[in-house]
Amino acid sequence: MSTTTVKAYGTSAADKPLEAMEIKRRALKAKDVAFEILYCGICHSDLHQIKNDFGGTMWPIVPGHEIVGRVTQIGSEVSNFKVGDLAAVGCIVDSCGHCEHCEESLEMFCENGVTFSFNSPDTYMEGEHTYGGFSKTYVCEEKYTLKMPAFEDLASAAPLLCAGITVYSPLRHWGAGPDKKVGVLGIGGLGHLAIKIAKAMGSEVTVFTTSPAKVEDAKRLGADKAVLSTDEAQMKAAMGSQDIIIDTVSAKHDVNQYLGMLKVDGSLVLVGLPPEALEVGAFNVVMGRKSFSGSNIGGIAETQEMLDFCYEHNIVAESEIITMPEVNEAFERLEKGDVKYRFVIDMASLN
Ligand code: NAP
Ligand code: ZN
Repeated sequence: MSTTTVKAYGTSAADKPLEAMEIKRRALKAKDVAFEILYCGICHSDLHQIKNDFGGTMWPIVPGHEIVGRVTQIGSEVSNFKVGDLAAVGCIVDSCGHCEHCEESLEMFCENGVTFSFNSPDTYMEGEHTYGGFSKTYVCEEKYTLKMPAFEDLASAAPLLCAGITVYSPLRHWGAGPDKKVGVLGIGGLGHLAIKIAKAMGSEVTVFTTSPAKVEDAKRLGADKAVLSTDEAQMKAAMGSQDIIIDTVSAKHDVNQYLGMLKVDGSLVLVGLPPEALEVGAFNVVMGRKSFSGSNIGGIAETQEMLDFCYEHNIVAESEIITMPEVNEAFERLEKGDVKYRFVIDMASLN
């Protein structure tokens, strides 16, 4: 078996639009699953990376880490997949497998370095880096490949692979449930799924949004309450009301006012990745024994648990399906917050 050349969409510099290109996928190994990509979601992290917001972007970059497809080939030692099955890949495609965190299926914290589905050094192809889901095919070891339940709207289920797990994992970790009030800060791809998932876990959900139009929509998405964060009176009324706040904001913002929304012992959990540092006032955490914390995607086992949970509870993203050539316009709209609430690329349009 040799490497295959496949069509993809990517860019070679932060100031250049994405365009058609060809990439190589590794030769199938005994434990590998190869699949044809059907759909790929567009996450704000793809946008951060193509803009090199965090530094360290490897060029050319092919983004995409909410990947759903159908198995086309399996290696000789694969036992959980057969040709024709649905399969999915999120952010994690490799890790050492034996450190303390990998043993607990917290692969995202692998001590020896996790390999992400795109923009990571490729452990299989020397000198190469990984290319994501804006492409025709993917090859991944079975251990890191998820079983995709047969969602009726498969395209809209793709965003669960990153946005879904990124909010599911902290909701589980911080104990969302009927006895916990959950706040969701920022109603984008992650935020709108956080509303649906926290509601399915039984929590009362309050959203905090900068967008007046999303106040009404938040209720349609299932939120119990919606607070327009630019309205001082509404913000004041919400002080001290939340046990957990999932902060999904992608840009620099004042977290101190949201620490004020927490009850005693409450936690503000950052999942958004503003490139700039955020300041926290000492009294805002000291008074009320509050926690300012963070969470990064979720491990493979928990990602599978989340997919099964969402299937059972009929949860998918509200998506706008686009074609591959429309991707640059989609990124421009994502940057302006003009998406309800996740773009998903129909990969049949990549020809
Ligand atoms: P998104 O769809 O663009 O949503 C972000 C939301 O943040 C916007 O809809 C907006 O909500 C709010 N927002 C944006 N700019 C703001 C500003 N200047 N001030 C206040 N609010 C602002 O993005 P996403 O795909 O959900 O991703 C959100 C963030 O999470 C990104 O930084 C992404 O990189 C990060 N992320 C992290 C992980 C992880 O593992 N930790 C995984 C995936 C993504 P309103 O209009 O409601 O205010
Ligand atoms: Zn993501």
